[in-house]
Amino acid sequence: MNILVINCGSSSIKYQLINRKKRNVSAKGLLEKIGKANSSQIHYVKGKVVKKQDKLANYEEGLRSILALLLDGKKGAIKDASGISVVGHRVVHGGEDFFHSVLIDDEVIKTIKSHISLAPLHNPPNLAGIKAARSLLPDVPQVAVFDTAFHQTLPEKAFLYALPYEYYEKYRIRRYGFHGTSHRYIAKRVAKFLKKPLKELKIITCHLGNGCSITAINEGRSIDTSMGFTPLEGLVMGTRCGDIDAAAVLFLMEKENFTTAQMDNLLNKQSGLLGISGISNDSREVEKWAGKGNQRAKLASEVFTYRIKKYIGAYSAVLGGLDALVFSAGIGENDADIRNKICQGLEFFGVYLDRKKNRARSKASRSISTEKSPVKVLVIPTNEEEMIAEETWRVVDKTVNRES
Ligand code: ADP
Repeated sequence: MNILVINCGSSSIKYQLINRKKRNVSAKGLLEKIGKANSSQIHYVKGKVVKKQDKLANYEEGLRSILALLLDGKKGAIKDASGISVVGHRVVHGGEDFFHSVLIDDEVIKTIKSHISLAPLHNPPNLAGIKAARSLLPDVPQVAVFDTAFHQTLPEKAFLYALPYEYYEKYRIRRYGFHGTSHRYIAKRVAKFLKKPLKELKIITCHLGNGCSITAINEGRSIDTSMGFTPLEGLVMGTRCGDIDAAAVLFLMEKENFTTAQMDNLLNKQSGLLGISGISNDSREVEKWAGKGNQRAKLASEVFTYRIKKYIGAYSAVLGGLDALVFSAGIGENDADIRNKICQGLEFFGVYLDRKKNRARSKASRSISTEKSPVKVLVIPTNEEEMIAEETWRVVDKTVNRES
């Protein structure tokens, strides 16, 4: 029983073949710069690189190459296409139509298409991947797992912006939230780690990677999250500014004569850690230079951690208490200094970091708070592919398997 997980980005495909029973990844890979002269594919079987290949004109060609490698007579992970039981697709935006993952049919595709205006960079490649997979594996069920679905439980008071209501009605401008698959995965692992039902927990999950977001989870449901109408809002990120007074955007556009495209580029690609430090979007570089006394790098690090701390305070209030504060993704899982800066000063509401545990290096889920800390501080490595596979299996088991 194998699940093929596909994540199509604006010019890339990430994929994993996950064996459901053994719960392991039998093959995985990454295709980059699809459609460009220097496109490439790197494919791993059982952790070893077996192939690097050039020139992939489009998503269908990319997927054809993935399937050829998976089915390769000598080094393939499976014997024939029947070895793939189901395909799970990451889809970024499901608008207000999808609370859960769904089996893909023509109607679902039509609805995903209708949300292209909400995610112009993401939904088109997601759809291209679905189209290619459906044409190459016509008999295999396909499931869409949405980044936005987990946050569809947000109450109106948390998702509505205080703009004239007609623009919510006309354009569905509201907070959607992203990284939902990751936040859901982390919350489930927290319950397992603490050996408590998710229904009894108040959790704050910090997904700190290139993109950063923070979510308040009550009884397993997302009740507030920092990313908004787009993934630009909320925390400071590698190149994204996060929260900003909308009037500053208008001011800049007027003063600098920026077009909307230029302004979009400034907010999404030139801001955040990179914008403040002037050095890098990579937190490791910023921390390195901050450590050497570079003032702008120090400032970038301070603005980054201060914003997270502020959200933790706000979300604790929204949750009415806190059982677990969780760090995940590239920065959250690896950067002890940043975790320390965020937690410092939060002792007054029960967050006591254990310095030694925080410094210890590990790839496993772990507690980094003191034994007596009322709030458990945890590091839980995220695994969006595993969550997509879990969701994909749940949907197929509920629909296709029950019918046959
Ligand atoms: P993405 O959001 O693209 O999946 P990641 O979750 O890989 O990104 O996170 C990327 C960020 O994580 C970068 O800022 C990088 O500096 C940071 N990071 C990755 N590994 C480490 C590490 N070992 N120590 C500190 N920071 C790290």
